[in-house]
Amino acid sequence: MIKRSRNGTQQVKRTWEQISLGRKPRLERKEQMRKVIFVGSAPFSGSTLLAMILGNDARGFTCGEAQNFLLPTKQFHPTLDCGCGDQECGLWPRLRKLGPEKLYETVFRTFPHTEFIVDSSKNPFWIQAQSEYLKKRGIETRNILIWKSPLEIAHSFQKRGRYQEWERSWVNYHRLYFAIIRDWRAIHYKDLVSDNAKLGAVCQYLDIPYFPQKDHYWEKIHHVIGGNYSAKIHLHHEGSPDFADAIKRDRSIIAEDVQTRFRTIYYEPVTDPVVTARVDQRVRRSNHIRRLTELFEAYDLEQGVISGREWSAVSFSPVSVGLRKIKQAAKVILGTFRYGSWRRGRMIPIRSGGQIKGLKAK
Ligand SMILES: [Zn+2]
Repeated sequence: MIKRSRNGTQQVKRTWEQISLGRKPRLERKEQMRKVIFVGSAPFSGSTLLAMILGNDARGFTCGEAQNFLLPTKQFHPTLDCGCGDQECGLWPRLRKLGPEKLYETVFRTFPHTEFIVDSSKNPFWIQAQSEYLKKRGIETRNILIWKSPLEIAHSFQKRGRYQEWERSWVNYHRLYFAIIRDWRAIHYKDLVSDNAKLGAVCQYLDIPYFPQKDHYWEKIHHVIGGNYSAKIHLHHEGSPDFADAIKRDRSIIAEDVQTRFRTIYYEPVTDPVVTARVDQRVRRSNHIRRLTELFEAYDLEQGVISGREWSAVSFSPVSVGLRKIKQAAKVILGTFRYGSWRRGRMIPIRSGGQIKGLKAK
């Protein structure tokens, strides 16, 4: 049973008061011992699950899809709730006031025992910008990419009624990731959920501790923002309002399956012959799909040292990356204008405890 302690909430408030008064809270560990791990993945590939498993450690902190909350580009982004389930937590509205650059340092100060933060924002431009900032601050970064095969990802999109989007989403995400991110390794979703030795290899690569039952991520309270409901549902008590809400929000969650396999991690093979035939046809016709799959396998953690030349044939060109960067910047500017904190200050008043008026009770 997960205890909903208020200690974390009080700690957040105390640290926030120190920062507001211009005082620098005392750090218990040196900055150089700390690191931020960026989880990359196309949508519905298991990044929330991996991020919470990695953060399941007294020295870890999973922040989830921080970018969506700090730089909202969709209407629902500012309404995301902290995964800790404490209505008085108030951590994320406060982090938004400080801005994206202060995110990790504030988390390290608010939770002084944290040695590594796991960020599953996924957007390669966010990873690039945050990594550059952290490098200047002397904080180490690591990159891990979680991926699903074409059939697995097509099935994940199909379960959510979005089959038509899988190929474009999966191919474009990885072409952009390879063009921007250096020094990364890959883990296949199937291996993560069916082989604990693979999780051990991920921890070894990221230089973080591995222990038996590290994958039991629901045993820790996570102040995780955003992310996949099919992974986050296991944080809630069975039958609780949050549990019911997750089932309502994600079409891929089948209530009976969650009840029979609550808080278990398992691999579900794709057995739908129609999807299998359709995906096979796309794989035969697309060089990009085949090359990407070969690259994931070559960059698996169990493979040797890799030169980095292989990805140039499949990644986006510098011109294409530049155009996408401009588009991303425009989305952020428009999003800040429409849903940003300055507007929220007027439209949705934030109470002193960090709660937001007008949002439904949990
Ligand atoms: Zn929280």
